[in-house]
Amino acid sequence: MQSHDELEPTVRIREVKRDRVNFVLENVDLAFANSFRRVMMADIPTVAIDMVEIEINTTVLPDEFIAHRLGMIPLVSSNCEEAIRYTRDCTCLAGCPFCSVRLNLNVSCHDSHTLDITSEHLELIPPNDRGQWDGEQEENTDGDELTKRPANFGQPVGKNEPGAPPVLICKIRKGQELKVKCYAKKGIAKEHAKWSPCSAVAFEYDPYNKLRHTTYWFETDKRAEWPVGDNGKEEEPPREDEAFDYMAKPNKFYVEVETDGSLGPQEVVMRGLAELQAKLANLILGLKPQPEVDHAEQHANGVSHEGGWANPAGGAGAGAGWGGGGGGGGASTWGGNEASSSPTGWQSTSPSGGASSYGGATVASGGWGSPAAQASGWSL
Ligand SMILES: [Zn+2]
Repeated sequence: MQSHDELEPTVRIREVKRDRVNFVLENVDLAFANSFRRVMMADIPTVAIDMVEIEINTTVLPDEFIAHRLGMIPLVSSNCEEAIRYTRDCTCLAGCPFCSVRLNLNVSCHDSHTLDITSEHLELIPPNDRGQWDGEQEENTDGDELTKRPANFGQPVGKNEPGAPPVLICKIRKGQELKVKCYAKKGIAKEHAKWSPCSAVAFEYDPYNKLRHTTYWFETDKRAEWPVGDNGKEEEPPREDEAFDYMAKPNKFYVEVETDGSLGPQEVVMRGLAELQAKLANLILGLKPQPEVDHAEQHANGVSHEGGWANPAGGAGAGAGWGGGGGGGGASTWGGNEASSSPTGWQSTSPSGGASSYGGATVASGGWGSPAAQASGWSL
């Protein structure tokens, strides 16, 4: 495999359908391709039912069973980034239209046939003109999230669409009833798999196993028992006499993203890239050294140098602050051990024989927690 350091990454889409996309990603690292796959599966926010108030349940299934089944129903989550906020970022107490979507389920059976309760019965409750749900306690919230929602935001995927089979929740007979209030919230699949927009992300590279990243288990004939898939057509089969190139790296990845319908495949891929970019930007920010100005300030205050907070050991003549060890001739503040006579003051140190402590001890002072039997800086 040739070097690809100087080549730009490319994406070639092989097939796009309403709920899936198949593409070939080239000239990227294996680590990048795999991070991209994992971000698409676990880090893209969607909405899913997260809180359920069961008013009547006379079905054969227990409450928690039904609550769990409701949570797993995919809901339309287009533009989730802007159209809804996380409840933890909201000013409301337990959920409002800016951070939740409300759905009602109210079905009862009155004849002798078995009735299927499905996602078709879930009814979206839109907020009123004041951005509140009728009959709920008014919350003092403000935001433009509601204007950024598509009309069917929060509705079960495939509802009212001919040919789309609904999700079965429960079956009931005559006299049984299910009445439930549901609150869907924004979340990611790292917290719970119900928030994943993907039902599957398939990923393959090196279909001929030239890199020997895997070992095939076989009975008699490896080639016959492990046929090469369609992706093999994209690559050169290895020659019999070809030597193993242990320095080779994969650079062509075959990806198929299948969504559960809560987001379209295009949105999943684009959001996945944006999410990965944001994560890397955060990492770069975290690795940046502290700005210079902080160090200068610490020196000016004598904090880090002489008897500072983080000083591992007070040197001779230097005061030690908390965490500082004993200093010969140096006095110390809280946490310091040894002390000698010296005037004191919070954060102030003198170059030799100086000491400092909170509250100011004049004669020898071990600070807070000090084993020294003398006066302590704190309590004086
Ligand atoms: Zn809220």
